[in-house]
Amino acid sequence: MYVLRTNADLEPWRADTAWVAFVPTMGALHEGHESLIRQAAAAARGHPGGACLVSIFVNPTQFNDPADLARYPRTIENDLECCRRSGADAIYVPGPEDIYPPGESIPIPPLPDVAILPQLEDSHRPGHFAGVCQVVLRLLRLARPHEALFGEKDWQQFRVIDAMVESLGLPIRVVPIPTMRESDGLAMSSRNRFLSPAERRRAASLALALEGAARLTDPGQAQRHMADVLTQAGATIEYAVVREARSLMPISPGTFVPGATPRRALIAARIGSVRLIDNAPWPASLAGA
Ligand code: AMP
Repeated sequence: MYVLRTNADLEPWRADTAWVAFVPTMGALHEGHESLIRQAAAAARGHPGGACLVSIFVNPTQFNDPADLARYPRTIENDLECCRRSGADAIYVPGPEDIYPPGESIPIPPLPDVAILPQLEDSHRPGHFAGVCQVVLRLLRLARPHEALFGEKDWQQFRVIDAMVESLGLPIRVVPIPTMRESDGLAMSSRNRFLSPAERRRAASLALALEGAARLTDPGQAQRHMADVLTQAGATIEYAVVREARSLMPISPGTFVPGATPRRALIAARIGSVRLIDNAPWPASLAGA
């Protein structure tokens, strides 16, 4: 596995590689990331001269809270091992000067509508998707992949990036990968390590709320159910909503036709000081779950 530490390392590697599947991450890798890397590696094997590239860069412009950036876990030795084990061919670990060269302004592309909807991420993390789009576009321009893989765990992020790639006409397939979970349903996340043992038990309420909501077929009831489960677990709810899966627009009352369009239930909640997000297809009867 090649370890590419600068753009000067990346460029010749990229020029020599016929086909690239790309997994951008912020490190602190876990089995969720491994699943993306394994699927990228499998896709690469299907293309002559194909390779799986993983990037690790903790992007400061997407953190609206400096304390959150400061405590973001950095576990590079473990990350390298994880990439190797999962079949990555190269790992790109740039410094800030490679992504944001001094004196050069790195553009923030126009944000797709799905990034700036009230109630969802933008209301709670203003500026977050501007930073995400800025760094992902920068990475896509440097890595020039044929496929880029993103986790469904960050569903709105996947939708934002897919919409950005489409609106810019980039020749890249954006591939969503299902969420990897702990045995009690908690979505794997780099932030789970900050939960105390008692908080860790309460954190399972997000998955429990989604599971219960998926058994209901009325969106209002499903939202109330999620709020009840989360409140009982002592979580502070930022949002717990059912939306159209693609546009993330609310389902207008009275217009809900089961099966007409894919829907998704989405949650953001704090357990103690730890902000967690999760989502699932809704309702289960239409998602084959
Ligand atoms: P991050 O390092 O948190 O920015 O995540 C990098 C990529 O891994 C993103 O596309 C995430 O959606 C994805 N990811 C994070 N957690 C999981 C998970 N539990 N299952 C699947 N993918 C995940």
